[in-house]
Amino acid sequence: MASDSSDCIFCKIVAGEIPATIVAESAEAIAMRDIAPVGPTHVLVIPRRHVEDATKVGVEEAQLLGELFELANQVAQAEGIAESGFRLVANVGDAAGNTVSHLHLHLIGGRDLSWPPG
Ligand code: AMP
Ligand code: ZN
Repeated sequence: MASDSSDCIFCKIVAGEIPATIVAESAEAIAMRDIAPVGPTHVLVIPRRHVEDATKVGVEEAQLLGELFELANQVAQAEGIAESGFRLVANVGDAAGNTVSHLHLHLIGGRDLSWPPG
């Protein structure tokens, strides 16, 4: 797992070096479709700058976090899932299955996500 931006797949996407389906952008954040969607809508909302994960987020990232959530809400509206509901998740570490070490919010919706299931 990359812990800096030099070998980070999401930094490469931000730099335009690797293709991605970008669905929304703001000054500090972009939203792109997940390459392996787990629902009808599965979008990743990421900061343009490299932040390793949620453990590196504090009050100094208040503006950035606001943009991430604003962009997620915009995408939820555009995807037609704002009313039905959706999930926003930030995975941290191995136990959560975190594979990309660049902060991202999973925006998942378009199906029943009640949790725990059943
Ligand atoms: P995680 O680190 O477990 O929170 O999730 C990383 C997510 O990034 C997974 O859902 C992957 O499917 C997704 N992913 C990995 N590479 C790409 C890529 N090149 N473009 C879009 N999504 C990706
Ligand atoms: Zn990165």
